[in-house]
Amino acid sequence: MRAMVLHAPGTELVPEERSLPLPGPGEIRLQVEACAVCRTDLHIIDRDLQHPKLPLVPGHEIVGRVDQIGPGVTGFTLGERVGVPWLGGTCGCCTYCVEERENLCNAPVFTGYTRDGGFATHAVANAAFSIKLGAFDDPASAAPLLCAGLIGWRSLVAAGDCSRTIGLYGFGAAAHIIAQVCVRQGRRVFAFTRRGDETAQTFARELGAAWAGDSEQMPPEPLDAAIIFAPVGSLVPAALKAVRKGGRVVCGGIHMSDIPSFPYRLLWEERQVVSVANLTRADAVDFFAFASTANLHTETVEYDLARANEALADLREGRLRGAAVLVPR
Ligand SMILES: [Zn+2]
Ligand SMILES: [Zn+2]
Repeated sequence: MRAMVLHAPGTELVPEERSLPLPGPGEIRLQVEACAVCRTDLHIIDRDLQHPKLPLVPGHEIVGRVDQIGPGVTGFTLGERVGVPWLGGTCGCCTYCVEERENLCNAPVFTGYTRDGGFATHAVANAAFSIKLGAFDDPASAAPLLCAGLIGWRSLVAAGDCSRTIGLYGFGAAAHIIAQVCVRQGRRVFAFTRRGDETAQTFARELGAAWAGDSEQMPPEPLDAAIIFAPVGSLVPAALKAVRKGGRVVCGGIHMSDIPSFPYRLLWEERQVVSVANLTRADAVDFFAFASTANLHTETVEYDLARANEALADLREGRLRGAAVLVPR
């Protein structure tokens, strides 16, 4: 198999030939068809997230076909299309697992962080945390759903069912999917981008946003909720200013720069700031049931697996419209 491997944070991924891994008990092996690139991959490579497994094959938005099945696995067939997300395993017995909050498990396994991921031609995954994707025809289009879509979905759920006007801060891979989910659900989307990013603002309007502007701007009407996808702490007070009394600001990223101090009046009147961490398998069931019939369009930029460093650089520099996806050829 071929893989793009991180040997030390802060360095480029290195192409390597490896022998094919065998799936252990409870595991399946996939022949990777596509793996999307997430901002979390950048946070790992750029040292914002500490202590990755090393050497590491990053990538946690994997779509592939089952090509070997480990002992004790039931319910999967060879050749079947499946997806592997960020949450790659849990302990099953800590307080959080028992309380159906496995996203907060005390001893989690994360794909492409604490175990090898999908920047490769093959990957091994825990079958119990893999998602059946038989309803999805195009692997490259489905890949961004596995984190951008799924974490976006969890953030939207956290924003609350009765939130009808939603602000999305940072219009990248997650926001472009969730904007479409909001529109399908009859919500109104207000998209906030880096100052003067006309490309992203036009993209947001094309996907049905009622308004798009700079993140420093106030929306034309108060928002019921806002979701912050950009890793920029100063957006927290900006979003608090934009939400109505009782409104909620959801931080959807795994890492953010420091939040500057702000006057209490921005939080007062029962505004809330919450964060979303990881995902549960129940989130995946709900989201993929919705996505399989919602005809979501994922905008992707495909790169050959060997060009992973280029894809990461384009994401880092904000040069992408939609999501970068690695495709082994
Ligand atoms: Zn646990
Ligand atoms: Zn991710």
